[in-house]
Amino acid sequence: MKKNVFYYSICILILSTALSFSSAASEPVETEEMTESMFDIKTDIEFMGDVPNDVTGKWKWAKLDKVADPYDYAVDYCKEFCEEDGEVHAIINTQDNTTTCLNYSADNGGSVTITVREYVKDEEKDAKVLFTGQELKSRVIDISTGAYYDYDTGESGYIDISTEEESETDLTEITYILNTNTMKFHKPTCSSVEDIKEENRRDFFGTRDEAIAMGYDSCGRCNP
Ligand SMILES: [Zn+2]
Repeated sequence: MKKNVFYYSICILILSTALSFSSAASEPVETEEMTESMFDIKTDIEFMGDVPNDVTGKWKWAKLDKVADPYDYAVDYCKEFCEEDGEVHAIINTQDNTTTCLNYSADNGGSVTITVREYVKDEEKDAKVLFTGQELKSRVIDISTGAYYDYDTGESGYIDISTEEESETDLTEITYILNTNTMKFHKPTCSSVEDIKEENRRDFFGTRDEAIAMGYDSCGRCNP
């Protein structure tokens, strides 16, 4: 009897040691990935509400304490915080001292005009001072398609907005791989896919017709 108890405790000991080792080994990998690629609108953005002295009733402001490109998070932000057509949101970034103006339009599936400006001290406390800093860059993004146009460079293209969870349609499976440089679309298994440069490569979750509607041609090798 005593022997059994002894073996039993040895087993528990080995098991718990193994468990603690495996969790210790997997944890750093996870956190590294998180800090590098994850930007969570709900936890990173602190929504503050109305802007003092605003007469339109549509000016809101929010705080962000992390360096992040507004071009990357603006669409997510609008989906989370913008409600009415014509709302203007200021995102004060305390890390890089910028103020981002998000001008939301609900027309045609929604669009957002993003203007990044230099931060002016205490501008969030007065609508008359808000957005008076020097303009750094500006872009408009179509919220439903991800199509964008840069006002300062004249550049246009598509941002990847397909990674968001959208409840209605199944967007979990990659249907095609887009090459934004050649404007061709491929089956994910196509041998040409691995030659596509990282910056030109986009995962696509839509249908063949949607890819064509976006201006893409089917690849001659994989005939998607
Ligand atoms: Zn191909």
